[in-house]
Amino acid sequence: MSRVLRPLVRLPWRSIPLRPFLARRSYSTPSMEQAQEPKTDYPALDKVVKKIGYTDYAQEYMGKPAPAGVRLSKSKLALMIDGEIKGYRYMLLRDACKCNLCVDEHSKQRKFRTTDISPLIRPRDVKWDGKELQIKWSSDIEGWGPDHVSKYNEATFKESRANPPKSDTGKLRRRFFWDKKMMEDIQHWVSYEDYMNDEKAFMKAMRLLSLTGIIFVKDIPDSREMVEKIATRMGPLRNTFYGPTWDVRSVPQAKNVAYTNVSLGFHMDLMYMNEPPGFQLLHCLENSCDGGESLFVDSFRAVDLVRYRSPEAFEALSKLHLNYEYNHKEHVYNNSWPVLETESVDSKKRIVRVNYSPPFQAPMVLDDDIHAHWTEYRRALAMFASIIERDNLVFQLKLNPGECVIFENRRVLHARNKFNTEQGKRWLAGAYVDEDAVLSTFRTSRNANANLWHRTRVQPPLKAAAEGQATAEDNGTE
Ligand SMILES: [Zn+2]
Repeated sequence: MSRVLRPLVRLPWRSIPLRPFLARRSYSTPSMEQAQEPKTDYPALDKVVKKIGYTDYAQEYMGKPAPAGVRLSKSKLALMIDGEIKGYRYMLLRDACKCNLCVDEHSKQRKFRTTDISPLIRPRDVKWDGKELQIKWSSDIEGWGPDHVSKYNEATFKESRANPPKSDTGKLRRRFFWDKKMMEDIQHWVSYEDYMNDEKAFMKAMRLLSLTGIIFVKDIPDSREMVEKIATRMGPLRNTFYGPTWDVRSVPQAKNVAYTNVSLGFHMDLMYMNEPPGFQLLHCLENSCDGGESLFVDSFRAVDLVRYRSPEAFEALSKLHLNYEYNHKEHVYNNSWPVLETESVDSKKRIVRVNYSPPFQAPMVLDDDIHAHWTEYRRALAMFASIIERDNLVFQLKLNPGECVIFENRRVLHARNKFNTEQGKRWLAGAYVDEDAVLSTFRTSRNANANLWHRTRVQPPLKAAAEGQATAEDNGTE
């Protein structure tokens, strides 16, 4: 049962797990057995009803008994779903109706307000076949006639949230943590032609981007327009004061450190903004200088290593908020982020985000919390900073003209080696796409071909377990 609904379900309709025997039965999948499942559940429902007491309103509301597997109390309908009894308020069931009268077929917009639903609403007819629930209403919303039938399928009761965080496109989605060696083996390259025109190749690229946070496009036509084309295949460009797309070239007296030819340490972009971009693209147009290699590190892997070494340091990283700023005459931005954002799932803290960008850090001297806990914060930050620079974590490559890297800005830290502009040129064109847009593309890709989406996995070569091994998909899922 979803956490959203659980608080609504009070006694006597609180979730009551079935005996293990029945619960186990529900995992078996032969279709014959599934069809009989509701029957198996009903005695359990009756048993619970008997035990905790219940006033049946079916006769009063419908003039007949409720269908098998359903109970009507004063303000809730109870149902057996997956071996649990769940209670749903009539008002909230009515609110969940997605029929054509309630939700516009074309715009998909809802045609009523939650507050239009009367507290007196109740069923005047209910049908339930174990798969689909149908309700006709008394005291329905004004303007909804007697023909209105609300229909709910099983999915309605299984996941009611729009973007379930644990789904494969949510923020708690499965991730594949990597280190240098692993990325050398599993890096995914797709040709520009396939990325743009082959649905399956694009879907595979998106799936691997969602898992590893980084993919590469190659054989890109030699044009400054291309980075926009590649970006908008995933979603609309994110505009910033750098423009909808931007260039990284060596220019004298640049205001931003990314525009010089000295080396640039590991960072994430635009952390001084309230909503830093979710994904970044860098398309190489020229790279004939000595040096200028791009470096990438999986910050989730690094933070997982911090946790392995010192759970206290892991905790400290989630408490330490660093300040970021962009402070020039024309633009002034500042913001503060915890180095690590986690969410507790099944008693384990999952890494949701890492925020780290030393080149854009602002003073923290006015922060009392940081003064109070400096010793532990400093230790944790130093541990993280040294881990991300470890040779065995840093994946390095020199982008060639016609190649583009796409990476998750708030997971994959990027850096650049210094380069010599005296003999050669270096020119990258960049763009950002917001996380929301890319997650939507993940979902549409998955919906178009769920089989292929789920079948697409990172295929790591077999190797011996290393320190704090977290790269295998099944134990590195965050
Ligand atoms: Zn409706």
